[in-house]
Amino acid sequence: MKIGCPKEIKPQEFRVGLTPQAAREAVGHGHEVLMEAGAGMGAGFADSDYEAAGARIVSTAEEVFATAEMVVKVKEPQAVERARLREGQLLFTYLHLAPDPDQTRDLLASGVTAIAYETVTDRNGGLPLLAPMSEVAGRLAPQMGAWALQKANGGRGVLLGGVPGVRPANVMIIGGGVVGTAAARVAVGMGANVTVLDRSVPRMSYLDDIFQGRLTTQYSSAAAVADLLPEADMVIGAVLIPGAAAPKLVSRVQLSSMKPGSVIVDVAIDQGGCFETARATTHADPIYTVDGVIHYCVANMPGAVARTSTMALGNATMPFMLALADKGWKRACAEDPHLLAGLNVHAGHLTYAAVGDALGLPS
Ligand code: NAD
Repeated sequence: MKIGCPKEIKPQEFRVGLTPQAAREAVGHGHEVLMEAGAGMGAGFADSDYEAAGARIVSTAEEVFATAEMVVKVKEPQAVERARLREGQLLFTYLHLAPDPDQTRDLLASGVTAIAYETVTDRNGGLPLLAPMSEVAGRLAPQMGAWALQKANGGRGVLLGGVPGVRPANVMIIGGGVVGTAAARVAVGMGANVTVLDRSVPRMSYLDDIFQGRLTTQYSSAAAVADLLPEADMVIGAVLIPGAAAPKLVSRVQLSSMKPGSVIVDVAIDQGGCFETARATTHADPIYTVDGVIHYCVANMPGAVARTSTMALGNATMPFMLALADKGWKRACAEDPHLLAGLNVHAGHLTYAAVGDALGLPS
């Protein structure tokens, strides 16, 4: 199969869909790999690394899209990229369609077969292609929140870990899955006073076990959120309902109960965000303020640490990418229900129920 990988064009996105290692594996399986020139630069991979792996460098994205039978990317195709997709082509990337009617409409119109990283499953009910990026975003969240809490960035001027004689900051994490757990690990490590809210009792038991009393867990109800908000210095939004838009758990009115200069990090912004006042921001302009509360809502947080993220994502996508290339999507999906769970769009049809429900479209 001809596998193509264009350079990412979303603002401040430095990751790349294929590492030289993945390209080498694909070539070893008898496939042809086309890389857009400079595609790996942001992640520290030179064109010569790909050439050494057996890939062919082409000078434009147009050529990649026109030639490839399967396009492998990181972020959802931007409008200019969607216009290049064609019927029968396979697209393997993050899509996050539920909050994105424009992209959904364009993908349906293109006739492409699109497999979304974020809805591929594993046998434990996890999301193996979301997990590595969730690990990264989760670890970054307290780091970015701590930066925003600094006075020069508009924050309250609170140090996460406090100092002897001065209390640490209160960090509230809504959602204790992969992002929430990774965020808790870093926030606890920085010395903050951490509370994790979740709706899954087994998940809270797990957190209670692994953190050995170094954080508090609380069942996530509207009342618990309302109680904790006034005391929080930082709130991290990390909920997920797979494939669906994030539930709004903090309203605009509730925001006014928070302290001036406190910080929201809405990691779930890629699914629409769990704060009513959240709107997606970019690495170039990551924060804004509503009612005195700083909002950090970067939709592609892992792009900030592009090299680590590219390698982590490449490790996770490689077996699926190879299965798709070796067998074609029909047989690969027929043989692997977890890969089939990633199928969101095929030949003008929406094939993922939660996306259809979120957008009011048939699926
Ligand atoms: P996950 O499935 O591992 O965890 C989600 C958790 O949310 C689960 O434990 C679930 O029980 C919990 N939950 C669901 N409803 C809840 C509620 N009402 N209150 C409290 N908890 C609730 O998912 P994840 O991998 O941790 O991802 C979390 C979010 O972060 C997703 O929206 C994902 O797309 C997003 N994400 C964003 C970025 C970024 O760059 N902004 C990067 C990676 C992941």
